[in-house]
Amino acid sequence: MSLFASGDRTVGLLAQVAVERSVDRYPDGLTYAVPPALADLRAGEHVRVPLGRGDSSVEGMVVRVMPADAASNVPLAKLKFLEGRSTAAPPMPAQLVELAQWISSYYVCPVGMTLASMTPSAVKRGVGTVTRTFVDLAAGWEDAMRAAKRVTPQQKRVVEALRTAAPSERPMDVRDLAERADLGTPEPVKRLVSSGILTSERRTSVEAEWRAERAGAGAMPELTPAQRTVVDDVRATLNAGFSQHLLFGVTGAGKTEVYMRLIAETLAAGRTALVLVPEIALTPQTGGRLLARFPHERVAILHSGLTAAQRNQQWNMVSSGQVRLVMGARSAVFAPIPDGQLGLVVVDEEHDGSYKQDQMPRYHGRDVAIRRAQLAQCPIVMGSATPSLESWFNATERRTSALHVLRERAPGLRLPHVEVVDFAEERKRFPDNRVHLLGPRLAGAIQETLDAGAQVLVLLNRRGYANWIACADHRCGWMMRCDRCDAGMICHKLPSSNGGAATQYVRCHHCQGEQRLPRHCPSCGKQVSVFGLGVQRVEEELSRLHPSLVAGQTMLRIDADSMHDAADFHDALGRFGRGEVKLLVGTQMIAKGLDFPGVRLVGVVNADTALNLPDFRAAERTFQLVSQVSGRCGRGADAGRAIVQTFQPEAPAIRLAAAHDFEAFAAEELALRGKFGLPPWRRMARVVVRDADEEKARELAEALARELSATVGDTGIVVAGPMPCPIARIADRWRMQVEISAPNAAVLGKYLTAARNAGVLRPGETYAVDVDPVALM
Ligand code: ADP
Ligand code: ZN
Ligand code: ZN
Repeated sequence: MSLFASGDRTVGLLAQVAVERSVDRYPDGLTYAVPPALADLRAGEHVRVPLGRGDSSVEGMVVRVMPADAASNVPLAKLKFLEGRSTAAPPMPAQLVELAQWISSYYVCPVGMTLASMTPSAVKRGVGTVTRTFVDLAAGWEDAMRAAKRVTPQQKRVVEALRTAAPSERPMDVRDLAERADLGTPEPVKRLVSSGILTSERRTSVEAEWRAERAGAGAMPELTPAQRTVVDDVRATLNAGFSQHLLFGVTGAGKTEVYMRLIAETLAAGRTALVLVPEIALTPQTGGRLLARFPHERVAILHSGLTAAQRNQQWNMVSSGQVRLVMGARSAVFAPIPDGQLGLVVVDEEHDGSYKQDQMPRYHGRDVAIRRAQLAQCPIVMGSATPSLESWFNATERRTSALHVLRERAPGLRLPHVEVVDFAEERKRFPDNRVHLLGPRLAGAIQETLDAGAQVLVLLNRRGYANWIACADHRCGWMMRCDRCDAGMICHKLPSSNGGAATQYVRCHHCQGEQRLPRHCPSCGKQVSVFGLGVQRVEEELSRLHPSLVAGQTMLRIDADSMHDAADFHDALGRFGRGEVKLLVGTQMIAKGLDFPGVRLVGVVNADTALNLPDFRAAERTFQLVSQVSGRCGRGADAGRAIVQTFQPEAPAIRLAAAHDFEAFAAEELALRGKFGLPPWRRMARVVVRDADEEKARELAEALARELSATVGDTGIVVAGPMPCPIARIADRWRMQVEISAPNAAVLGKYLTAARNAGVLRPGETYAVDVDPVALM
């Protein structure tokens, strides 16, 4: 290795370092000289480096280490030395660093920002690990009490609180106990422990949270012949390098059972499995099933309900190699499983939109998972009852992934009978002329189901009370729109605290701005009316039609407004699972992954909510939603029934979802996409240009489209636009878009990287670059 001089020191090695602070001119990181003492430095280590004119010391991560003579284009004499290692967080596995570099280039995001987003901030800050103490009455506590010299009144209250607590509440967190016994400090509890009246144990609250479900059924059913075939076929690829599998199985086919068998094989081979699930499906149900099956394994569950300390703790456990099974939503794809340990990746409900991150880096969790499996040289299994057309295309046209099919539901379960109700006809049967969201057919079925003691899910994928606020006089035509966005305002109701009339207010679902509901039309002074759809209104109508449904007791509303955090959702599902709650009414949050045997009816209030959006995936999303939500019933001994209200009963997405015919839908939809040169036949990237000034946004977008077009050459790339986005203004910023379409991912990636290096694409506040976008609004 040749040595160069830099300043008064010699340099044998150079390091490319990513710093979090965005350094736009160096999206791949900055080059530093490595001091001789750090010759063993490697990619993934945290370091401190001097940055800028003042050489202020900042944190960074080594992306690459290279011999100085390999970097022919670096002016060595000008290089700064990196200062040294930093121990803020454990080093990142080299494969993850490589993954970050791929994400950075494919999704056009500086590598520093990419790496920063891969590590939870709690880990970077090194938030202290919190272990909580749980206490309970010791065996023979009464004798111990009598033997104690002195028992204070506070201590007596503690003992009493534990004695009267429900069995499920014991052992109890010391902090909860102190509160219940009305203590200012936990000191009396500690005394009781030291005098042997109470026992104490220390554990993490993550485990405590999942404990109830872990205790549940862990029994292993016998595989059906179809499941057996899938397990055998995929098993043959374990420990045999990278391979890609699509598991297409109807809802309730027992896909989870297949994953669990493959996970068991992976663990038996001494390797780690990584399981990704959509954010919303990450309920104790799914996690609990895995925990119940693998009670003796170290499992890390990374979900949004974790505190910073828990997140840090779970992360460190994974990073130290102690964990054998990692499960989590999108960002769990970055779990720091040590290199060489990962043996299987599972992506459940691979079609789910929540795998796409909507801020930089705008990556797709499923696609990153494929890349991760490639780097780890292990199989990846993607499962769904409604595969994304991208995955379906890869399995059936490109044949880059193997297709495995489960056509039947698991033994004893039947697919629900789905009735499509033409709502235009149904409306004629209303007994009065009031506006109803639930037609007689659906309302009747709900009553029958409740009378039979079974449970119901009612879906309307619209938050709020009503989505149309307008002048009561049609001739006036005034309609309430957001001042800052190109969108209508949505009416919401706040529950009344004292039983009086509920308060109504309006909110914009794009900028979240809120206002009071005006009583009079600002244009003509007449009354203002609210019309249209909203899940709150469905809830109101359900209470009116079915007196046995009491909001908050036998009926719960599940949407982003009523569920503030993971604990709320966990609690609501628990009450439904125990049968206290008879009906859940909600948005898509109830459409995914739930497995409750008591559900015998699913109602879809309006299947058209997404069907007419100006987005080429509108039909695909509608198909998915209708299929997935109907799939939530019939998971018990009785076949279920689904009633789908729609104004477009002939739309293929609705008709074929009702017939459980994904393959026919996919064939029809793929043919259409092919005709128009849309994904998955081609790859797409979308650049949204945003500016407070409409004219400026247009000029910037025009310049961008021109510069992009100039470099197309014979790549087969097509640049379209600029044109206004479907929502032309959000939060006072005008939005113009330029669409880039390419024959395949490799061509698109190369083209975008070249555009970035040439300074044409400068992702940031003004330009949002979205590769393989899933939302086109
Ligand atoms: P999916 O994930 O495909 O929707 P699940 O794995 O949730 O389906 O399976 C649906 C139900 O069927 C679950 O309650 C599961 O325990 C049960 N099940 C799965 N496989 C079998 C089997 N081979 N025999 C009996 N029951 C099964
Ligand atoms: Zn707005
Ligand atoms: Zn008016």
